[in-house]
Amino acid sequence: MILDMFKLDGKVAIVTGCRRGIGRALALGLAEAGADIVAVMRSEEPGLEREITSLGRRYLWVEADLSSIEPVERIVEEAVKAFGKVDILVNNAGIIRRDDILEFSEEDWDEVMNVNLKSVFFLSQAVARRMKEQGTGGKIINIASMLSFQGGIRVPSYTASKSGVLGLTRILGNELAKYDIQVNAIAPGYIETDNTRALREDPVRNKEILGRIPAGRWGSPDDLKGAVVFLASPASDYMTGSVVAVDGGWLAR
Ligand code: NAP
Repeated sequence: MILDMFKLDGKVAIVTGCRRGIGRALALGLAEAGADIVAVMRSEEPGLEREITSLGRRYLWVEADLSSIEPVERIVEEAVKAFGKVDILVNNAGIIRRDDILEFSEEDWDEVMNVNLKSVFFLSQAVARRMKEQGTGGKIINIASMLSFQGGIRVPSYTASKSGVLGLTRILGNELAKYDIQVNAIAPGYIETDNTRALREDPVRNKEILGRIPAGRWGSPDDLKGAVVFLASPASDYMTGSVVAVDGGWLAR
C-alpha cells in the first residue's frame, strides 16, 4: 500500500547539525516515520535525545565539527558500531556569512565552503562507500537553498556553496545510482531559524521577503518534514539527482 512506502521502520539515519533549526525538525520527522537517529553535532542536546527516544527510536550523538573533514570516517564508524548500518544521510549542517562583495573576507569564504560544501562531499563519500559495502542501497539528502538557483545579496560564499550543493547532488546521483543509492536535495525557502534571524529583524528586508512569498508567511522547520521523509523512503526510489523546493511558492513567482 502506498502509505507503507513512506515508512522508515528499522532504518538508520545520520543527520548533521540537528541541535536546532531545520536539522532538528528533519531528525524528528525521520524518527516519527520510524528511523533511528545518529545526530552529528558539535555539542550535546539532551532534549532531542528525549524526544527521539520517547518515540521509541534509538538515538546516538556523534560529537563532530564539520568545519573540517577530519571527523567524516569516524561518524560512519560510530554509527555502524552502535546501530550496525547506515541507510540514510541528511547533510543539513550549514552556516552563512554576510558582508558586501567588496569587503568579503577569505575567512568568511573558507568557513562557509568547508562546512556547506567540502564536508558535504566527503561525508557523502564515506557514507556511500559504506552503503555500497552493505549492498542494500541508500538515500542521501542534501539541504540546498533558494540560493542554489538565485544570486542573493551580501552572501557570496553561501550562494557559491549552495549552488555547489545542487551540482554535487546531481553528480552524486549520477554516479551512485548503480549502487541503488538515491541522492536528492531539498531547497528550503525562507524558514524561521537562527540562520535567517538577521533578515527577519531587518524591517525592510523582512517586508520585501514576505511580500514576495506567495504563501504570505515564513516557513517553519516542520514544513520540511514531509519532503525529507519522502526522499528518505522507498516512495522516492526512482528519483535521483533531483531537488524539491519547499518554499511557499518563492521560485514560482
Ligand atoms: P541554524 O538554525 O543556524 O542551524 C544550523 C545547524 O548547523 C546548527 O545545528 C549548527 O550547530 C550546525 N552547524 C553549523 N556549523 C557546524 C559545524 N561546523 N559542525 C557541525 N554542525 C554545524 O540554521 P538552519 O536554518 O536550521 O539551517 C540548516 C540548513 O538549512 C543549512 O544548511 C542552511 O544553509 C539551510 N537553509 C536554511 C534556510 C533558512 O531559511 N533557514 C533556507 C535554505 C537553506 P550548532 O547548533 O552547534 O551551532
